[in-house]
Amino acid sequence: MTAQILDGNALAQELRASFKTRVAALTAQGHTPGLAVILVGEDPASQVYVRNKVNACAAVGMYSEKIVYPADVDQATVLAKIAELNADPKVHGILVQLPLPAHFDEKAVLEAIAAAKDVDGFHAENVGALAQGNPRFIPCTPYGVMKMFEKGNIDLTGKEAVVIGRSNIVGKPMALLLLNAGATVTVCHSKTRDLKFHTCRADIVVAAVGKPRFVTADMLKPGAVVIDVGINRLPDGKLCGDVDFEACKAVAAQITPVPGGVGPMTITMLLANTIEAAERNAQREAKR
Ligand code: NAD
Repeated sequence: MTAQILDGNALAQELRASFKTRVAALTAQGHTPGLAVILVGEDPASQVYVRNKVNACAAVGMYSEKIVYPADVDQATVLAKIAELNADPKVHGILVQLPLPAHFDEKAVLEAIAAAKDVDGFHAENVGALAQGNPRFIPCTPYGVMKMFEKGNIDLTGKEAVVIGRSNIVGKPMALLLLNAGATVTVCHSKTRDLKFHTCRADIVVAAVGKPRFVTADMLKPGAVVIDVGINRLPDGKLCGDVDFEACKAVAAQITPVPGGVGPMTITMLLANTIEAAERNAQREAKR
């Protein structure tokens, strides 16, 4: 068997084309969606992510602003900026690029973002709404994975789903989304005793571990759907996922590649969340 490749590049392009229409409609009503991105420090990977986010906004006609601070900036300065952005009508989404330097209280910074502008979906209020099954903002990476299931006509109802990784950014919200969609969900992590026992009986495996080629073909049930969230840089500079793609695609029914799988979907869903925020705002204003 050779698995069908779930193409994140193609889906991202398709969705971004549809965003242009929504952005144009909002702009015509005087509500151009706007995203503010705060970057603290000079981490090269974070600089690339922020640049890509700003460029992606421009490509669909959205407004964006980038606020950059040196690594030694104090937290109060960043919190004051967030308060300003919370009140700025041009800005519908606010994102603080993680990780923050060690002297920051990451939780306090994320909680300072108005829940209605929390397009990353990391605010406790939005996490709570997701846990209750009524999400307002879904964290972008797992949201992108759900769109890939939808595009691939993958029915999740009653399926055994195993999520490897329990981070707040990927693993936990991914598990909640699968649960909300009717899957039977197992969350595995670094303390899980027998990972293979769980993955071998899974219809769906989502890997969000951060270890190159961690999921091997012998860990999969034939015909499984394999979603690789991992982005790992190999010593030769190439990117590689958490899944041993070449071997696993001979066992899986559907699989995402790295690059070109989940990666392009993350920024796409950030745009989606910001456009949704602007649409909600426009509806609120229309009712006034
Ligand atoms: P993280 O380091 O916060 O979490 C990794 C998780 O893996 C932890 O919960 C840990 O318990 C688990 N883990 C570690 N060793 C394990 C083991 N031996 N067995 C089972 N579980 C184990 O990472 P994260 O932020 O969730 O990101 C995971 C990966 O996804 C990284 O490669 C990251 O770069 C990538 N990522 C990709 C995107 C994207 O846009 N595609 C977005 C976010 C993260």
